[in-house]
Amino acid sequence: MVSVNDSQNCVQLHALQAGHLTLPERFFVHPSSDNLKTTVPSLSFLIKHTDSKSGNIHRLLFDLGLRHPTTKYPQPVQNHIGTRQPLTAYPDVVQSLEHGGLKPNDIDLVIYSHIHWDHIGDPESFPNSTFVVGPGTSSLFGNKSLRGGHSFFEENLLPEGRTIELPSVDDKRATKITQQSDISAVDIKFNQSWRPYGRLPRTIDLFQDGSVLLVDAPGHLPGHINLLARIQQEKYVYLAGDACHDRRILTGEKQIADWLDDSGHVCCIHVDKTEAQSTIERIRILEAEGVEIIFAHDVSWEQDTKNSHRFFGNA
Ligand SMILES: [Zn+2]
Repeated sequence: MVSVNDSQNCVQLHALQAGHLTLPERFFVHPSSDNLKTTVPSLSFLIKHTDSKSGNIHRLLFDLGLRHPTTKYPQPVQNHIGTRQPLTAYPDVVQSLEHGGLKPNDIDLVIYSHIHWDHIGDPESFPNSTFVVGPGTSSLFGNKSLRGGHSFFEENLLPEGRTIELPSVDDKRATKITQQSDISAVDIKFNQSWRPYGRLPRTIDLFQDGSVLLVDAPGHLPGHINLLARIQQEKYVYLAGDACHDRRILTGEKQIADWLDDSGHVCCIHVDKTEAQSTIERIRILEAEGVEIIFAHDVSWEQDTKNSHRFFGNA
């Protein structure tokens, strides 16, 4: 990927184990066999940023994975979990942080790729972090139009006074969905507008030094965002969340699945399949340019022994 500015900063990035769940293949890829299932991780990522001028350190998490214990999920989610077995929420993100010597209070920001149950963990475990969600996330609370057992959103999920919803793509400034408290303590500029970065049409340069870009990645669910991290001068990692659930979709070997529910409705794991396809197309271009792509349920990345040292605490 061509750097916009060679003097840009870099970050440290680690993966964190945050639970596993089992996906029936027919809901995710086409063609598929009816009873094939795959147990996949729900990965969380830790990013450490050091300000090049002040030396200030900020740590952020991208997604929190599964909630431990799962009995802390609301009943509709617990019912859905029955269809995703085998499932384990241990070790969760807090244990995985501890494995590398960090505590929840060391985390300044928790950024959600989106608020499906398998990415939100337990916000109560991070009582002092600021939460960041993508544009349109708040429209999901109380929304009854989305189908499927995974589309249940807890009204009080996002901590009051500690949550920032990024601006809609044509707005100028970040929308605060709850009152601002000590967000100013985190010297991050949220009130910027979306800008193109390389081939990505809409990004927010979190620290304004090119090291962490939040990327508008529409299609899967309103508010779905990705993250591009610069880990070395010429090396980028793209965290794709649920833009893609199976590497064979990226390679073109498989298509995004559709299926009919009990009442004959055509369903898709992405709320807007056309948008999801455009997002995947942009990710393919990044990969072709040498950017490493990791998605939240990336079982092949997780199982590749070359990546074991990249889990926090394993170095
Ligand atoms: Zn997911």
